[in-house]
Amino acid sequence: MRANFPVKAFEGIDTPFYYYDADLLRETLATALREASKHKGYHVHYAVKANFNPQILSMVCKQGLGADCVSGGEVQAALAAGISPDKIVFAGVGKTDKEISLAIDAGIFCLNAESIPEIQAIERLSAAKSAVTQIAIRINPNVGAHTHANITTGLAENKFGINYEQLDDVLSVIDSCKHVKLIGLHFHIGSQILVMDDFIALCNRVNELQIHLRDNKGIILPHVNVGGGLGIRYDAPDEYDVPDFRLYFDTYAKHLHLFEGQQLHFELGRSLVGQCGSLITRVTYVKEGTCKKFAIVDAGMNDLVRPAMYGAYHKIENLTSSAPCDSYDVVGPVCESSDVFCKDVELPQVSRGDILAIRSAGAYGEAMAFGYNCRTLPKGYMSDTI
Ligand SMILES: *Cc1c(COP(=O)(O)O)cnc(C)c1O
Repeated sequence: MRANFPVKAFEGIDTPFYYYDADLLRETLATALREASKHKGYHVHYAVKANFNPQILSMVCKQGLGADCVSGGEVQAALAAGISPDKIVFAGVGKTDKEISLAIDAGIFCLNAESIPEIQAIERLSAAKSAVTQIAIRINPNVGAHTHANITTGLAENKFGINYEQLDDVLSVIDSCKHVKLIGLHFHIGSQILVMDDFIALCNRVNELQIHLRDNKGIILPHVNVGGGLGIRYDAPDEYDVPDFRLYFDTYAKHLHLFEGQQLHFELGRSLVGQCGSLITRVTYVKEGTCKKFAIVDAGMNDLVRPAMYGAYHKIENLTSSAPCDSYDVVGPVCESSDVFCKDVELPQVSRGDILAIRSAGAYGEAMAFGYNCRTLPKGYMSDTI
């Protein structure tokens, strides 16, 4: 049992709020970097969209990771946190001219381009600035990750990436561009992946493609980026607090064949920040239904949308009580039937005013919060500053 919540300090803070265990975050980031650095040419970028809280970004920067961004706003957030432009990559199917210009002006390392019209836009905007912009092409590897349908991104008819059939056309467009320099291949197959088989399938596709490009086109690019997607154990946040980064990087080392000098980039989000965060909420009422009890809490789906959006499971703990357990549906106050955090949870008997922790909420929690029902956005606190 690792989690150690400063419940006394929580009493003085307005709920709901996000609480981040700074020691666990530091240890997780350091472990990922240490395991990656055992392999030559491996680079880890933090996927900013998982959590753009400035304190988290600042720790990511201090630990020396790069950033993977999916909007101009995220590029700005990464720069503001002190992350060096030469460690920033920028993906996304719908980059606007404004966002591309921002990236060119900042001199970021690489734009991961996802279509021919996007490459043409990068060419036009770079020419206007007399710049040469480094790009990677995001290839759709047609690998299905065994995860929720809404978070697979690597299947053929998916809005993301460039399909194999289009590759020749893409390469000839890039050939005709004087202000775009192709430096790499980019892939990302989805999120919350816990079986290494999916990553191995990706490695096999990357190997085939690299050999095809070398043998048929004489192309060997200096960079390969395999995206992120490593999952976390939502069912056991304390037993599996730091994900198995060794297994993850070793899997790539074993199955992905790099050519001499090639650099391999990773874009990890959830696995780096997921387990360090909890949504802390207070019980407003305990309501007796006909055959159920509801613990109505002051956090709602607007604060943490994953259960409502993906049917995602988050472990819930009662931090106040250690009475014998009873069964509750833990629900929020928002006027939607889907505003349910978890049904039939066994919790030490819950009373009005008890403080609950909704665990494993560091990734896609605070970052996805919204203001439905005129609710205020939750704040985030680091353990070492409260
Ligand atoms: C979301 C995303 C990631 C990070 O995914 P995780 O599952 O959080 O590791 C990495 N790369 C791209 C392009 C993404 O869109």
